[in-house]
Amino acid sequence: MIKNSIVGFPRIGQQRELKFALEAFWSKKISAEELQKQAKELRLKNLEFQEEAGIDLISSNDFSFYDGMLDTIVLLGAIPKRFSDISDELELYFTMARGDEKRVAMEMTKWFNTNYHYIVPELSKSTRFTLNANKIIKEFQEAKEFGVNPKINLIGPITFLSLSKSVDGSDVYEHFDAVLRVYEQLLEQIAAMQIFVQFDEPIIVTDLNNEQKNYLLKAYEKLSQVSPNLNLIVSSYFDYVDKDVVEALASTKIWGIGLDFIYGKENLDNIQNIKDKYLIAGVVDGRNIWKNDMNSTLKLLDKISSTVQKERIVISTSCSLLHVPYSLKYEDKLDSEVKNWLSFAFEKLDEVSLISKLFHNDVLLEKDNIAFETNTKANALRKNSSKIHNEALQERLKSFTDAKRSMPFEERIKTQKEILKYPSLATTTIGSFPQTDELRNLRSSFKKNKISQEEYENGIKKYIDECVKIQEEIGLDILVHGEPERNDMVEYFGEQLNGYAFTQNGWVQSYGSRCVKPPLLFGDITRIKPMSVKWITYAQSLTSKIVKGMLTGPVTILNWSFVRNDLAKKDVAKQLALALNDEITDLQNADIKIIQVDEAAFKEGYPLRKSKKDEYEKWALEAFKLSVSSANAKTQIHTHMCYSNFNDIIKTIEAMDADVISIETARAGNKILKIFKEVGYKQEIGPGIYDIHSPRIPSTEEMTSQINALLEIFPKEKLWINPDCGLKTRKWNEVVPALKNLVKAVKIVRGD
Ligand code: GLN
Ligand code: ZN
Repeated sequence: MIKNSIVGFPRIGQQRELKFALEAFWSKKISAEELQKQAKELRLKNLEFQEEAGIDLISSNDFSFYDGMLDTIVLLGAIPKRFSDISDELELYFTMARGDEKRVAMEMTKWFNTNYHYIVPELSKSTRFTLNANKIIKEFQEAKEFGVNPKINLIGPITFLSLSKSVDGSDVYEHFDAVLRVYEQLLEQIAAMQIFVQFDEPIIVTDLNNEQKNYLLKAYEKLSQVSPNLNLIVSSYFDYVDKDVVEALASTKIWGIGLDFIYGKENLDNIQNIKDKYLIAGVVDGRNIWKNDMNSTLKLLDKISSTVQKERIVISTSCSLLHVPYSLKYEDKLDSEVKNWLSFAFEKLDEVSLISKLFHNDVLLEKDNIAFETNTKANALRKNSSKIHNEALQERLKSFTDAKRSMPFEERIKTQKEILKYPSLATTTIGSFPQTDELRNLRSSFKKNKISQEEYENGIKKYIDECVKIQEEIGLDILVHGEPERNDMVEYFGEQLNGYAFTQNGWVQSYGSRCVKPPLLFGDITRIKPMSVKWITYAQSLTSKIVKGMLTGPVTILNWSFVRNDLAKKDVAKQLALALNDEITDLQNADIKIIQVDEAAFKEGYPLRKSKKDEYEKWALEAFKLSVSSANAKTQIHTHMCYSNFNDIIKTIEAMDADVISIETARAGNKILKIFKEVGYKQEIGPGIYDIHSPRIPSTEEMTSQINALLEIFPKEKLWINPDCGLKTRKWNEVVPALKNLVKAVKIVRGD
């Protein structure tokens, strides 16, 4: 009997072994055989850990050299034309992911509302599909040889098609029959093996249209009839699935349905009619790092089992554990009190296993009893910890309701223009300047106590000196300090706030070999001391031009952290906002006249369901407004966002009431800016006029015509001219000529 399962396990390795193997292979330091060998070791480790923990349904094919969607493209043979002449399989695979001199890489975008990126399939009328099951069979056999009988993880056809892009304007669903046929062939090929096949269909937690619903039903009616040897699971995660969709799936011959009960609590009301199906119940959080509260989980499971027969409930994670770090094993510097509240992927295996034993009334061993007691105790300690609760803060927060700037924008901007005296088409940058090896070494040596505070500060000052000098030489209007002291725009602020902790090894895959290490926001947030004033004022002391202060906004800090789950996000955001509000007061008192509050991740926090959108917008907006409400009317507030498609959120962006917004338009084209004109957007705006993600240096002519094109949409008094994001990933010899061309282009347009 199957009692528990894991949706999927991290592939990057306990200490990012896969990252290092991939990068060594790409730089030709190891052979393909060596890469394969190391990858196999990682896969076997994953199997071993799941097996040891007592997981019934262990995953195979959750491994990937780059990304599961890319693997699905290969599985279906949907290789875009420009790669079709590459015969070596591995070379083909990595070229699709990363491009080469001749071929642009395939597009990459965020996987639902996570920070994981997938490769976007490119389909056109001429795309043909053929089955290539090599990887799947190989990894399945490998697991068999190892001694487990795993399920095979696949991305399902509806999610695959829904996330594909059409490169010729044709409807991607025209390929439905052809794609389904390949999935059928795959199932036919493996039918003799008597196995479980998990189809990941996270798309079904979004607002599906009727067409998608019909395709979904058709797909699983067909696939579930291929062979009685196969037990099919349709797995969903990240939110709830509509009742009619659950019921449609239950009407097919699939074995089970996977639902997320952490991020889709509504699922509780949608499971009345799942008939004879198994329910794979996601009750262990696959997206956050807190220990499961087993007592609450058992209560939740009791509720579920009042609707679904107990024997048919399979305990599982809410989604693949890919979204949390691998293991706590290497965290020897974390505060032991905080560490005791945490559970990463490896630790979550034991949680799933133990919850399954408790819920299904298995015989408990002594160690199980101890583990349950330990869990209960850890949760109680966390709840009552003085590290988490700050009453003074909670008291103070009460007086901040509906915080906003003191004067309406129209009046503010007049005063600002008088005081700041910046010209039309004012030039500026987004904050960071090139992060050189020297700078990285400086910061890491300081962190490791290899150099003194004084040496470190002198190094930072030297960078700021040069950065200001270069900007003056280039002739930019509003300067920045260059952010040399920041290793990461969230971590930097987190490190200066009470309520934050940092891991040494808490890496989560972001894309390919790239991993991020989100900080842990565990408790009430208060500022220890001013966080940015020292370096901004130093930069300002060097020049008579205005230096813009630079902060990361509350919503972005929150969206890029692992956030406590014992307080509503809206309240956490408010605490972060208050800390930033104090910072703005300090910057202002230090005579800083323009302050930029970056909200790079404002849009990515949007929920997947329309029904949840209003709530998010409300608190996110309130948090941003609270953070900048301490700015006097004469202090100019900028914000920056790393995207440009504002169609559905333009009213919210306007309501944020920043005086100036800079956005990332360079890659998307000007068409999408029309929305600003259509809605009569009031505030000033700097649509990035060149793409900083590429090393290419845009010419003066190119930028001149871009500015002229923008002037057809925006009046010159409202238009700022800047690159489309921070310059930290570029080199000085790319940045300097590009910015010189930018300033020249502005002069030409202004007629100076
Ligand atoms: N101020 C930040 C920088 O320039 C903004 C980064 C971002 O938008 N991702 O680096
Ligand atoms: Zn940006």
